[in-house]
Amino acid sequence: MSKGRVSRYGDLVVAKIPLSRVYQSEVIDRRILEVVKTGNYILGPESKAFEKELAAYFSVPYCVLSSSWTAAVHLLHIAQGLKAGDEILVPSLTAFPSIEPMIHVGARPVFCEIDDTYTIDPEDARKRITRKTVGILPVHLYGRPANIDALKKLADDNGLWIIEDCAQSHGAKWRGKRAGSYGKHAALSFYPSKNLTVYGDGGAILTYDEEVARRISMLRNHGRKDKYLHEKVGFNLRFNEIQAAIGREQLKVLDELNANRRRAAAWYRRELAGVEGLTLPPEDKDGISETVYHMFVIRLASNDLREGLAKFLKERGIETGVHYPVPNHQQPAIEEIYGMLPSLPKTEDYTKRILSLPMFPALTEQDVKVVSGAIKEYLRQ
Ligand SMILES: *Cc1c(COP(=O)(O)O)cnc(C)c1O
Repeated sequence: MSKGRVSRYGDLVVAKIPLSRVYQSEVIDRRILEVVKTGNYILGPESKAFEKELAAYFSVPYCVLSSSWTAAVHLLHIAQGLKAGDEILVPSLTAFPSIEPMIHVGARPVFCEIDDTYTIDPEDARKRITRKTVGILPVHLYGRPANIDALKKLADDNGLWIIEDCAQSHGAKWRGKRAGSYGKHAALSFYPSKNLTVYGDGGAILTYDEEVARRISMLRNHGRKDKYLHEKVGFNLRFNEIQAAIGREQLKVLDELNANRRRAAAWYRRELAGVEGLTLPPEDKDGISETVYHMFVIRLASNDLREGLAKFLKERGIETGVHYPVPNHQQPAIEEIYGMLPSLPKTEDYTKRILSLPMFPALTEQDVKVVSGAIKEYLRQ
């Protein structure tokens, strides 16, 4: 690294700022050992308590844990009777797993455009409804709730169900209520990078449907009714006790951790206000959305600038990411099944220009100043 850069930034130049960092605590360390010593490891009292506490937190009647978001939603699709030929409206800009379970049961993702909040554009989705459409799977991407008012109306007008993808939005609110409490069902992920993690894989379904909850509980555990009585051919997609204990402790501090994410987002907004050639994430509207900033995603004026900035930040020890560089309608796995799908111009354009900046609860004001300072320096060049 040149001397000029070093003198310009002093100690800033050696900063090591990761994209995300997992929350840990001594309480959690202690709880892990406690569970180890109970001898109870799978679907025991910790898991039951975690399900109850999640249901209460999201104000929904039922919660069923499974081994990941992907596993939980696969079981949900089976339990809700999703079948071959059914069509589901889903944004193309999301993690690939959002659409895997539906494809495994023969249903078809119908890819929709995003609006300027990076969530599904309800008007674009409306145009894609056919006689085969059965549901909508909105994704509260980057911790920002999708336009729930418009989606509810779209669903009601057309007799569709909603499954909310809450993998990135634990704790986010819409009109004062948690995202995850609006759809007929919702799904959570506890993967390490998410706002609420269990230090490994894990997921859950939130639902208003008692029978669906019962079926998922049965299917995740070999279709068991009793120890040696199998009502259905099921799966082993259970949940572990150590993970449940970790999740319970993470849930206790989730609101506080999310408040810290929102604080970091406010610092970024202050530091990057008015910088030309850069679009900040959409702001919340008072009383409508409350974003929990799973990611803080900026948009550059061109792909070259995005790539150049990512490289510039990397050289300064600042990690960034792109969520996501390839939209799902253009994934090779999708083309293999459905052939070349029609273009989604806005999604394709945005995926070339978005950049995720470091965002986690322990991010400091100084970190944000370092990242923002480097961005401003790059864009001035
Ligand atoms: C992480 C993620 C998933 C998948 O979650 P897993 O628990 O890893 O299966 C699904 N949807 C979105 C939007 C995600 O970010």
